[in-house]
Amino acid sequence: MKVIKEISAIQDISDYYKCTGKKVALVPTMGYLHKGHVSLMLKAKDENEIVVVSIFVNPTQFGKGEDFDKYPRDFARDYHICEKAGVDYIFSPDTEEMYGKNQFTKVTVSDISEKLEGKFRPGHFEGVATVVIKLLNAVKPVRIYLGQKDAQQNVIIKKMIDDLNIDTEAVICETMREESGLAMSSRNAYLTKDEKNKAAVLSFILSEGKRMILSENVNDIQEIQRQVTKVLKERAPGFELQYYEVTDNNLLNEIRDLSGYEGEILISLAAKTGNTRLIDNIIFQKKKTPA
Ligand code: AMP
Repeated sequence: MKVIKEISAIQDISDYYKCTGKKVALVPTMGYLHKGHVSLMLKAKDENEIVVVSIFVNPTQFGKGEDFDKYPRDFARDYHICEKAGVDYIFSPDTEEMYGKNQFTKVTVSDISEKLEGKFRPGHFEGVATVVIKLLNAVKPVRIYLGQKDAQQNVIIKKMIDDLNIDTEAVICETMREESGLAMSSRNAYLTKDEKNKAAVLSFILSEGKRMILSENVNDIQEIQRQVTKVLKERAPGFELQYYEVTDNNLLNEIRDLSGYEGEILISLAAKTGNTRLIDNIIFQKKKTPA
């Protein structure tokens, strides 16, 4: 496994493999890797000859007062995890290499970037879309592997790829969870043991929402929100639900008429405890409720 820090070097490497008919896959990450990231690497390795993992804590996707400075970083640990997973290259540019001194261009995926997370993190998805297109232009992968954990990010990246005719396929991989149901996340490192135990309720209230819609035919989203908020208050006092939204998984529009809706449903949430902010989601199919 090699560590590459320069954009021109990873571009040359990718060109070389393209000439030799080998498929290059990209797994973009911000490091402090866990089993969720590893599942992406293994799937990428299974479906492609060469796997590049990018490790870059992207400053432009953090807002003022967010956790950019304290975001966990441990390159030596990440290196071993990648090596064990059979990764071929780590691409870890520094900020200067990624953005230079005078970057004027930003990529905005309008409308869908302003919903859900966008309401609480203005500018976040502009930073994400811009860094992802830069990573795609650096690594030039045939496929990019993304986790369902970041559902809105996936919708945005897929739309950007489509809108800008980028020749890369986005592959979405299931969310890896702790035994408790808690979605694995680098930010879980911020949680105390007690907070981590309580945070398991987040995946529970997502399953509850799914159950209410599919098994109980509840059509009133506000009723679902009321019930899950009550469960959260009881089981995880100290956690504040920032949003709990029921949308389609395409343009992230709120589903107004649940009973008449047929297709993929995305329930997403964000919750805060102290300074730690966690997100999670569940995606499932729904058929029209028979009259
Ligand atoms: P991050 O390092 O948090 O920016 O995440 C990098 C990639 O790993 C994104 O595509 C995430 O959706 C994905 N990812 C993060 N957590 C998980 C998880 N628990 N299971 C699967 N994929 C994940």
